[in-house]
Amino acid sequence: MTMADIIARYKKSQGYQVYFQTGSDDHGEKIEKKAQTLKITPRELVSQNISLFHELWKKLGVEYNYFYQTSSPFHYQKVQKIFTQLLNQGDIYLGEYKGNYCVNCEDYISEGRIVRHNSCPSCQSELYPIAESAYFLRINKYRSELLKHYSQNPDFLLPAHIKKELFENFLKNELRDLCITRQDVRWGIPVPNDERRTIYVWFEALLNYLNSNSGEKSFMKSFSEEKKINNAKEVSCVAIQNKNNEYLLVYNKKHGKWQIPGGKLELEETPLQAAKREIFEETNLTVNNLEKIGEEFFYVDDIWWRVYFYQTNDYSGELLVKEPETIRETKFFKVREMEELSSQIHDKVLEYALKKINIYESKIVHLIGKEIVRFHAIYWPTILLALNKRLPDKILAHGWLTTPQGKMSKSKGSVVDPLELLKKYPPDLLRVYFMAKINFLEDGTFNEDLLKEFYQDFLVNNLSNLCSRVGKMLELYCNSLVPDFEESKNAKLNEYYQNCLSIVKQYQSLMDSYQLTKAFQEVQKLLSLSNKLIQELEPWNLFKSEQKKFLNNTLNYLTNGIKVIAFLLLPVTPESSKNIFEYLNVNQSNFNWDNLLDFSQLNQVKIKKLNQHLYHKL
Ligand SMILES: [Zn+2]
Repeated sequence: MTMADIIARYKKSQGYQVYFQTGSDDHGEKIEKKAQTLKITPRELVSQNISLFHELWKKLGVEYNYFYQTSSPFHYQKVQKIFTQLLNQGDIYLGEYKGNYCVNCEDYISEGRIVRHNSCPSCQSELYPIAESAYFLRINKYRSELLKHYSQNPDFLLPAHIKKELFENFLKNELRDLCITRQDVRWGIPVPNDERRTIYVWFEALLNYLNSNSGEKSFMKSFSEEKKINNAKEVSCVAIQNKNNEYLLVYNKKHGKWQIPGGKLELEETPLQAAKREIFEETNLTVNNLEKIGEEFFYVDDIWWRVYFYQTNDYSGELLVKEPETIRETKFFKVREMEELSSQIHDKVLEYALKKINIYESKIVHLIGKEIVRFHAIYWPTILLALNKRLPDKILAHGWLTTPQGKMSKSKGSVVDPLELLKKYPPDLLRVYFMAKINFLEDGTFNEDLLKEFYQDFLVNNLSNLCSRVGKMLELYCNSLVPDFEESKNAKLNEYYQNCLSIVKQYQSLMDSYQLTKAFQEVQKLLSLSNKLIQELEPWNLFKSEQKKFLNNTLNYLTNGIKVIAFLLLPVTPESSKNIFEYLNVNQSNFNWDNLLDFSQLNQVKIKKLNQHLYHKL
């Protein structure tokens, strides 16, 4: 989850609109049995588990958009609808299941997979036999289509060795159809018109990903408010895109905000006609080739609005404010600027537009545990193929955390409780430690001693120390004002700048290919280079020998180096980066990937006095 959060924050920093969904698969025999032992209902057990998740994600600074629960009424309806659809189109059929089952993995284990008698090949739990009539999902029917997808997208599933295993164990041969109902499990979603059976937990849990961006809430609302919706006022809006990938907004005087151009439908007018007319009236542009990209209800100012949403980059005419009494200005904005506006003005239509606009270049990335890779990399795409829906772009299977004594085990008492760790260490430490020390696509060993060591080494000796050293020198030699940037002729400073440049580039390319641990090494490299620069140029001697200009340049470069480091660390250690920007006395939102290497940004900024180190020895 932390790695997913780092990826999400990083993509946001690049100007992407990110929708980050997580959740819990609540049903199944495992939960049902555990609840029985605890003498509580499965629902009570689920809510206990979930509150622990919520607490942990909050403390770790994981910022997801939506937490999906498969025991919600919305999910029931959705799953039953999809089950019925697949049954009607012949992809689900009634058959006979005979074989073994592992409750711990909630997995049907075929004879061929069993290595040790009566024991689950994944978790070693005892298996039990099932023989019953059950519904099956056709898997093999879609095998060749799935293989085609894999061959066209060689990096669809990462890491490569997990993909290799999946091919060797499953995909290279004919696939068995998946049994998707259980007769003796009550804690699940009933099969439509067949209340004796419930739907197999994995089949229905995977369908959580078919959630809409707006999620459960708007779905429920649109049902309960059906009446109002029939009387909704209709509006058409158009996202007009120019060649620089910017979008046109108009400033609405009456509402005092920037809006997507468009307006109310007149009598007898179609939404499309209204869109064209409104755009011409507001902006003097003639729009063509309008592509409908959405339709949504919004409840604003006690009125329901039905908004038809179009997009185009085909327009002609000169941009003019034609209705100066209502519109003050029209202007093209970058998506990132629109997002900022949207967060300030709480315009639901603009927010919605942003989601829709970005959908065309969107990527769907799943981050899952390697133990559930077969469900996500075979069954899930198969369900999507059967439903004729878009497949994810990427499936990342993360490894397991082990302890120095081996696999974490409750009976050996070697389970590491992250909530306990968070009582002792700052969340930023846990976030950066996992990124720095454990390649999340592999298994890794967690060791608290190494965590402490890393705290001292990275946060205290490196990051905090660099900030203090440079701050101290600025205070002593420059009255805490960052000297103006000047392109230096000094080879060492030049080299430092070139290194910053290549590190920023390399960091992005590694993050974009999900090589998080290597990306962190780039940050570490810049920290070392900064410390090395101080040792080599010895600013205190430059001061003594009155090489004022050289000294100023050196301090400017170093302060900007700290700024770059804080920016690169923003997705990883948000608190620490925030503190560094505060200490630099600049607004972190001023910096982005395009202007990061502009070293004149900090000219004459008066940095704050660092009364205490960012991090102290534990
Ligand atoms: Zn198992």
